[in-house]
Amino acid sequence: MSELRLEGVPGPVSLYLHFPFCEHRCHYCDFSVHRAARAPVENWLECIELELGQWLERCGWDRPLPLETVFVGGGTPSLMGPAMKRLAALLERYAGLVASAVEWTAESNPASLTKAVARSWREAGVNRLSVGVQSFDDGVLRWLGRLHDADGARAALAAARAAGFESLNADLIFGLPVSERRRWQDEVQMALDAGVTHVSTYGLTVEPSTPLGRRVGAGDVVMPSGDRYSEEYAAAAEALGRAGFVHYEVSNFALPGHECAHNWHYWDGSPYLGLGPSAHGYVGGNRVWNVFSWEAYRKILAGGGSPIEGHETLGAGESRVERLWLALRTNRGLPAGDPLAEHLLESAPDLLASWRQAGWLEIDGPGIRLTEAGWLRMDELVAALGAIGG
Ligand code: SF4
Repeated sequence: MSELRLEGVPGPVSLYLHFPFCEHRCHYCDFSVHRAARAPVENWLECIELELGQWLERCGWDRPLPLETVFVGGGTPSLMGPAMKRLAALLERYAGLVASAVEWTAESNPASLTKAVARSWREAGVNRLSVGVQSFDDGVLRWLGRLHDADGARAALAAARAAGFESLNADLIFGLPVSERRRWQDEVQMALDAGVTHVSTYGLTVEPSTPLGRRVGAGDVVMPSGDRYSEEYAAAAEALGRAGFVHYEVSNFALPGHECAHNWHYWDGSPYLGLGPSAHGYVGGNRVWNVFSWEAYRKILAGGGSPIEGHETLGAGESRVERLWLALRTNRGLPAGDPLAEHLLESAPDLLASWRQAGWLEIDGPGIRLTEAGWLRMDELVAALGAIGG
């Protein structure tokens, strides 16, 4: 690995913090998760502060960092409970955060998002809450290996609203095996009835190393056809659209004013730092990532080392494909005046016209964006556009 040179690069506008602890591992999950009955919150906070200090020294950044967004993901950040206030104090020291208008999101699991936790987070300065609902069907939740039931999901969303979270997201999973009979449209409606302002819908992906992956590999579980996946995706988009939600990214829907600014920074190429095990960052044009496991991460930091496991700087061709991936997954697409949009329109007018005719793409003057039908075949379309030379 070549040396990572970052002195003098601009500071991050976003900060992602990975809180890797979960009480139990869901059957489909391959994230960096450390099972713990009691999350070692103090130790995690110490590690985050050490890592942040290393970044300031490495890049010569002054405090306060110019953060516009913070996102605490996991894992199960709600296991942190009221200790979120300690994280707020840490962020205040490094970024003058709490007094400013930063968007601060934290993820939560309905099994641990109590009224008291929601209230204490709101007091700490968290102003956007994401709840890992996944489903409002008890059978589906059991099948996924989740710790909560549908009533627990409803109670968590009610607790969030009662605590004053005006920006409230529910994660929902679709694309389950046909054996899991569920009323998907009703479940999307239940999220709306609970008063959410944002919905993230994720198609279930099967990772070979998970219990679900092994069952699929053994033939015990048959994943659904592409048709069922597409139908559920379209049904969610239709129901959410009817309720006034804007489909602003492949997987994300929001009422106007409630889009996730943090995620926009990922998609528009802004610099961000990722702290915690497995976290990724993008700083000074370099992709940087940490060691995956909590144990390795904490031991390296305790020994005075850096948890960065790898980094890469993208070449011109890779950067172009990455830009296509990031821009075309959003409803902004490649806007008018973007040199890449102009290049594609000049180089492949017939291809783009045929996609427009198929309903996969919209050409808005000199701007290009994919439609919902285009998002369903995004891999194929971006690969074809990436192969156009220039
Ligand atoms: S709660 Fe989330 S991070 Fe934890 S095991 Fe389940 S899916 Fe993975």
